[in-house]
Amino acid sequence: MGAKMISFTLDACSKVELKSFFNEKSRSNFESEDEDNFNGVGRLTISDRVFKSNETTLADDYLMENTFKYGPALAVQIGDFSKAFPATLAQKKAVEKEQELKNLLDGWDASLIQRTKQSKSEFRGCKKCGSKIAVKYVKDTVCPVCTDLHFISTETDLKRLKKIQQDRAKQYEIVRVLRMEHNKNINEKPHWLVMACVDD
Ligand SMILES: [Zn+2]
Repeated sequence: MGAKMISFTLDACSKVELKSFFNEKSRSNFESEDEDNFNGVGRLTISDRVFKSNETTLADDYLMENTFKYGPALAVQIGDFSKAFPATLAQKKAVEKEQELKNLLDGWDASLIQRTKQSKSEFRGCKKCGSKIAVKYVKDTVCPVCTDLHFISTETDLKRLKKIQQDRAKQYEIVRVLRMEHNKNINEKPHWLVMACVDD
C-alpha cells in the first residue's frame, strides 16, 4: 500500500481546543464525509513553526517533509494568531462567559448525582411512581422507572437549569455575532493547518 497526505484547517484557537478538535476528528468511529479522513490517526504534534498568511506553500512543504506514515499528525500556525477572535478584552470576556455557562451545563447532571450520593439516606424515593432506588445505583437525574424529572432535582434546581440554558443560548448568539463581525474585518483568517500521512 502506498501513502498519501491528508490535511485539514481550523480557525485560530488555543492548543487545547485544537487538541480536543483533533481527538474528536481522529476517533476511529468519527463519521467523516471528507475525503481526508483522520480516523485512527492517533497522535498530534503541534509544531512551534509559525508561517505568514502568504506562506502557505512553505507551510505545505514543511508539513510534507515532516510527517511520516504511521507517525503523528503535525500542526502549524498560519497567520497572526494575536489578531484571531477573541482578540479584544470584550470579546475574550464574552467567550469566557459562554464557556462558563457551557461548563455548568456539562457538569449539571453529575453535580446533582454527586449531591444525592452524599446525602445520608441509602434509598431515594420517587414521589411520582413511588419506586425506591438504592442511592448507589443512581446514575441519572430522572427516575429510572418513570423518568420523572423531579427524582433528584428540586423545583429550584429545575428553574435554575432552565435559566442557565437560556443564558447560554443568549451568550452563544452574542459570541457568534461578535466572531462574525470580527472575521469580516480581517482579510486573511489565521488558522491551524494539520497534516498527516496515511495508507492510500
Ligand atoms: Zn418514578
